[in-house]
Amino acid sequence: MLAGFTSLDPTVRLVVVLALAAGIYVVSGLIWPYTACSACTGGKHASPTGKNWRNCGRCGGSGKKLRLISRLLGRS
Ligand SMILES: [Zn+2]
Repeated sequence: MLAGFTSLDPTVRLVVVLALAAGIYVVSGLIWPYTACSACTGGKHASPTGKNWRNCGRCGGSGKKLRLISRLLGRS
């Protein structure tokens, strides 16, 4: 199978690799729908002292964000 793959036209090979990567991306979006919120750490916005914090407004204090691919796939 690998020998057949390497004998493919470089353009076709690129398309195959991209399709595989896209497939893995979609499957990972189904298995792991969340990513870390980029606006906070663990759902908290810490004060300079680090002792106080407020909940993050973007993720509602959960610290997680639904990934784009997962939203497209209808996960919530
Ligand atoms: Zn957040």
